Amino acid sequence: MNVITPPDPARHPFLTGKPKRLFIDGKWVEAASGKTFDTLNPSTGSVLASVAEGDAEDIGRAVEAARRAFDGPWRRFKPFERQNLLLKLADLVERHFEELAALDTLDMGAPISRTRASRLRALGMLRYYAGQATAIHGETIENSLPGDYVSFTLKEPVGVVGAIIPWNGPLTATIWKIGPALATGCTVVLKPAEEAPLTSLRLAELCQEAGVPPGVVNVVTGYGETAGAALAGHPDVDKVAFTGSHLTGQKIIQASAGNLKRVSLELGGKSPDVVFADADLDAAVPGAGMAVFANSGQICSAGTRLFVEQAIYEEFTARVAAYGKTLRVGNSSDPETQVGPLVSPEQLDRVTGYLAIGRQEGARPLSGGERLTDGDLAQGYFVPPTVFADVRDEMRIAQEEIFGPVISAIPFTDVDEVIERANRTSFGLGSGVWTQDVSRAHKLARSLRAGSVWVNCYQAMDPAVPFGGYKMSGYGRESGKQHVEEYLNVKAVWIKTG
Ligand code: ADP
Repeated sequence: MNVITPPDPARHPFLTGKPKRLFIDGKWVEAASGKTFDTLNPSTGSVLASVAEGDAEDIGRAVEAARRAFDGPWRRFKPFERQNLLLKLADLVERHFEELAALDTLDMGAPISRTRASRLRALGMLRYYAGQATAIHGETIENSLPGDYVSFTLKEPVGVVGAIIPWNGPLTATIWKIGPALATGCTVVLKPAEEAPLTSLRLAELCQEAGVPPGVVNVVTGYGETAGAALAGHPDVDKVAFTGSHLTGQKIIQASAGNLKRVSLELGGKSPDVVFADADLDAAVPGAGMAVFANSGQICSAGTRLFVEQAIYEEFTARVAAYGKTLRVGNSSDPETQVGPLVSPEQLDRVTGYLAIGRQEGARPLSGGERLTDGDLAQGYFVPPTVFADVRDEMRIAQEEIFGPVISAIPFTDVDEVIERANRTSFGLGSGVWTQDVSRAHKLARSLRAGSVWVNCYQAMDPAVPFGGYKMSGYGRESGKQHVEEYLNVKAVWIKTG
């Protein structure tokens, strides 16, 4: 294992080396335009690397390569061969995990303690999809036609997949797209986010080392409005798997209309986290806190609308605010850091803008509420854990996704009332419930309109358990068997045997 402690850009093997080019058809190539863009370390604001700026022309080349690969020998790879590739890739990711975690930390600002902790999930996903590769099967279905007919289904890979991912967890987001593609026999053109493209490029190198054939996995770095839009609109892409904001999700759907490509969308949220007075408060305080403060709130399913039963509202919100103050905010490479910076100056503006809006709307900050600029923090994009009390349902900070470490705490008095108010949002990704009453836990689990309900925990994830949204949080599921189905077509075959 390469141990890099603490991650230092000057010592990181991937950052000290070669230029960061596009990975197309198994080769590292410059962007057709020759242009590059810089990616920053959000802890310090300094440039980490200059990366090729792919655009529509490069996307075109990558899609052609992916189509050739799909029609070529890859199509004849047996399930166990694809399984072996995924297992080899998992072993390589395991061997280089420290380096990959450091790269994620440097490029997007998640604390190194957090990126290191994603090891189990990253490896678990690759090995889960490896297992799925040999579990794909159709069905023989009895039919009622007069005469003798045999009818059965075949599952076939959907084809060339355009994968567009955000910056808030590049390592796991990349694996979440290429894992099911390799398991099913699809080919991929992946466009990472411009804010944090490096880990996807390093993973492309590992795919190559694992023996993934040329053209099966391609990575084109570039901007969303150019490279991303070209991928979503490309007439020879069969499916787009997108993770990002709902506004971009809407554009993806429009762009996909040209060839009616299949689309799966994992979008944003404004997830409710409901704390009842009977909850184990010692568990609920850090649980509800980290449901938002983890990754500086840059998690689509963050439990940002904290509904607290009136009887414990003052005590509980004060405790969550106090808990937030105990968290160490700092450079994401420091192993002691618990809350790192926001990813970019734009994200900093967005979050501090909402802090101002919250105050204007009359919410009461119990902790945080201002950008941190002490000492070295001034160079990065740091916002401390923030709790707003006295939030009302109609306030913008209770309705709009902030994507920062900001809790909007709202009191409630009654179970049916809180269910109705928790569901009064256009999103439906995650939701949390804290109670010791098992009947009430079941009632909320059934009533909350969200793709995940976490009871007495938050953000539990597993490669075998589906994750995705209701309403404007998107459609399609990632993880679990359903995720694999998203990458498959079903063909019905009829054979007249009489
Ligand atoms: P965020 O606001 O979290 O950055 P976005 O939805 O803007 O979320 O970005 C998620 C991904 O979508 C990124 O890879 C980005 O480059 C890409 N993207 C942005 N705009 C478009 C677009 N019009 N078409 C396709 N992809 C886009």
